[in-house]
Amino acid sequence: MNKLRWGILAVVLVVCAALFFGFVLHNEEYTGQEFMFDTLCSITAYGDEAQNAVEAALERAREIHSITNGFSGDSEVSGINSAKAGEKVKISRDIAKILQTARKVETASNGAFDVSIASVVRLWNFDGEGRVPSEKEIAEALSRSGGEKFIMDFDEGLVIKKEDGILIDLGGVAKGYAADEAVKVLKEHGVQGAIVDFGGNILCFGKNPNSDDGLWRVGVQKPFAPLGEVDEENIIEVSEAAVVTSGTYQRYFEKNGEKYHHIIDTATGYPANREYSSVTVVAENGLVADCLSTACFVLGKEKGTELAKSFGAEIFFK
Ligand code: AMP
Ligand code: MG
Repeated sequence: MNKLRWGILAVVLVVCAALFFGFVLHNEEYTGQEFMFDTLCSITAYGDEAQNAVEAALERAREIHSITNGFSGDSEVSGINSAKAGEKVKISRDIAKILQTARKVETASNGAFDVSIASVVRLWNFDGEGRVPSEKEIAEALSRSGGEKFIMDFDEGLVIKKEDGILIDLGGVAKGYAADEAVKVLKEHGVQGAIVDFGGNILCFGKNPNSDDGLWRVGVQKPFAPLGEVDEENIIEVSEAAVVTSGTYQRYFEKNGEKYHHIIDTATGYPANREYSSVTVVAENGLVADCLSTACFVLGKEKGTELAKSFGAEIFFK
């Protein structure tokens, strides 16, 4: 081989190597996981900055967990819950955003979604052993719920209770917001594609490097089957979306052969017993999708579908 041919070969090899390493680096994959919001939260991202981005996104989610966690005495939610009637409680921008969207969905769902159902949720002790409250207890707790018992001034960042003893529970909405914020951080770090899975709240964006068409395939968990089991026909293909599921199987207890799950019908104070076990909402935004999935579960198929459509979301009942 003459010098020119060696030269050409060398150039070709360098170009191939650059393309190869460029491809590999471009597709660097990193998964980070953490137990938060009482569930396993996991993020897989692709791109040069994947690891830093995932760590920063988990940090942001941790922040949201710490302010929304009603079980921690020093969280913002606990601050609201321990406030007396008439007291002006200053809220952060995060809590204001969550409460503002929650209020929109509360109004649109005629109160089927209502973060102030907390007193009733607590009675059932879903986070502990579970217990069936008496009718009297439920009636009393219901009398301490209802969005109208709060004044919320989102511009001033203030919440004021009209009565003592009114509580809020962001369990039906915080994970969706945290997933949105995690996605923001990933994008700020230049991540080209990622999937965020916060216990049934799945957000994806960018290109999926593991599929030919770049789409993400999100499987809807088969109710009461082992975690990760999905029916072939329940795989949703998306490029950028929030796919959020509320299901009876996610948190429940059994007493005397009866299952009691954690999604409360605000009209009765009892678990919303419906002909389906889960509701999946596909929307642009995790916060909206999270409120909607809970709301639509309570509302039932007909009204739930109407509500989801009014927010431009798709909905599936299983
Ligand atoms: P999700 O899994 O998003 O449907 O949220 C269920 C959680 O939301 C429950 O564990 C409760 O903490 C809370 N919750 C239950 N019922 C309601 C309701 N009707 N409106 C708002 N939050 C609720
Ligand atoms: Mg929800």
